[in-house]
Amino acid sequence: LVHPQNEDYFGNVNTISPRGVYDEAKRFQESITMAYHRFHGLETRIARIFNTYGPRMRLNDGRVIPAFMGQALRGEDLTVFGDGKQTRSFCYVDDQVEGIYRLLLSDYSLPVNIGNPGEISILEFAEEIIKLTGTNQKITFKPLPQDDPLQRQPDISKAREVLGWDPKVGRQEGMKTTFEYFKSLSKEELDKREHRDFSKRNTY
Ligand code: UDP
Repeated sequence: LVHPQNEDYFGNVNTISPRGVYDEAKRFQESITMAYHRFHGLETRIARIFNTYGPRMRLNDGRVIPAFMGQALRGEDLTVFGDGKQTRSFCYVDDQVEGIYRLLLSDYSLPVNIGNPGEISILEFAEEIIKLTGTNQKITFKPLPQDDPLQRQPDISKAREVLGWDPKVGRQEGMKTTFEYFKSLSKEELDKREHRDFSKRNTY
C-alpha cells in the first residue's frame, strides 16, 4: 500500500490467498533471520529482491518476461492479466547480483531493497516487448490473478546510502540482451511447457 515501497513498510498480505504461503514464508524468513541475529549474534543480511530478469530465465514458469518473450517468438498473442494498469519495476540480473554482493560485504543487518525503481505498467511493457521483438503480435486480456499487487516500485535510498549501489542497466539495454537469449532457444525449447506455475511469487 506504500509507494514507492521503503524498508520500514510492514507490508499488506492476505494470509489465506493462493499466494499466502509464498508471501508469509518470505516474511517468516526475515523474522527468523532477525531472531538468529539478535538471540544468537549470528551475522545476517536481508535483501528484499524486487522483480529481476535476464538471460537464462526459465521460459515457462509463468513470470511475465519469459511469458511475453515466449509468446512473441511462438507467434502467439501476448496475454495481459487484468487491464494491464498494474505496475512492476524490473531489475537486470547483473545489477541485482552486484547489490546483493555489496550487501553481503557490508555490516548492515536490517532489510535493504535491491531493485530497479524504473516502473512501467504491464500493458505498456507488453507494447514495448512487441516493438523490441518486431513481431507484430496482438495483446489479449485475461483475468487478473487473485491478490496480484497493483503497484510495485522499490525505494532504494537505503541501498544507495549504505551500499553506494545503484542499478546501471536500463530496461532497454537489459531487455535487448534478454531477448537475444530467448531468440537463441530452439523451437523444441520454446514449445516446452512446465507442469508447475510459479507465477505468483512476490511479497513486497
Ligand atoms: N502478467 C501478465 N501476463 C502474463 C504473466 C504475468 O499480465 O502472462 C502480469 C501479472 O499479473 C503481474 C505482472 O505481470 O501483474 C508480473 O507478474 P510476474 O509473475 O512476472 O511477477 P509478480 O506478479 O510476482 O511481480
